Amino acid sequence: MKFCLDPGHGGIDSGAMFRSGVREADINLSVALKTADRLKTLAQQVILTRSHDTKISLLDRVRIANLNNVDVFCSIHCNFASNPQARGIEIFHYPGSEKGNLLATTLLGSVLSQISLPVRGIKTQNFYVLRYTKMPAALIELEFLSNPEASCLLTKEWVQNRFADGIAFGLVRFAQKYAQKT
Ligand SMILES: [Zn+2]
Repeated sequence: MKFCLDPGHGGIDSGAMFRSGVREADINLSVALKTADRLKTLAQQVILTRSHDTKISLLDRVRIANLNNVDVFCSIHCNFASNPQARGIEIFHYPGSEKGNLLATTLLGSVLSQISLPVRGIKTQNFYVLRYTKMPAALIELEFLSNPEASCLLTKEWVQNRFADGIAFGLVRFAQKYAQKT
């Protein structure tokens, strides 16, 4: 199976920022690289939309996934809210996508089996990368950078490793069960 991991933001687009200077783009990339390593040890093929701190357009992210004909697409982000108490993981899929829903649900269960987090649930959203990718796709918001505790967790190596394991195992489980090409 071939997977596309898409670390959100990058380069001059830092994404969400915590006041301590933690950049969302860096956390996303770090978790994506660890997830890619896990997938490779599971004998899977991995394409990354970026593997460095570079800015890349949404169009190019979608193009990379579609041109490489990957089986599953997974975008990795961190959340941000004006309320600093907001916490938890949420996973998005494209509205009405059954496979997207199964992917999001599988990923959520898999991540929660690796790390205990408040759950905000499975949601739908008309995100560009979910709309234009041709394969089952999900976008994970790992946790809130705007929450001091969660932001501290997100920078920890062991936490990033748990996320990476959860995402990698979830992707493989989903692909084995559902990701048949039409
Ligand atoms: Zn983001």
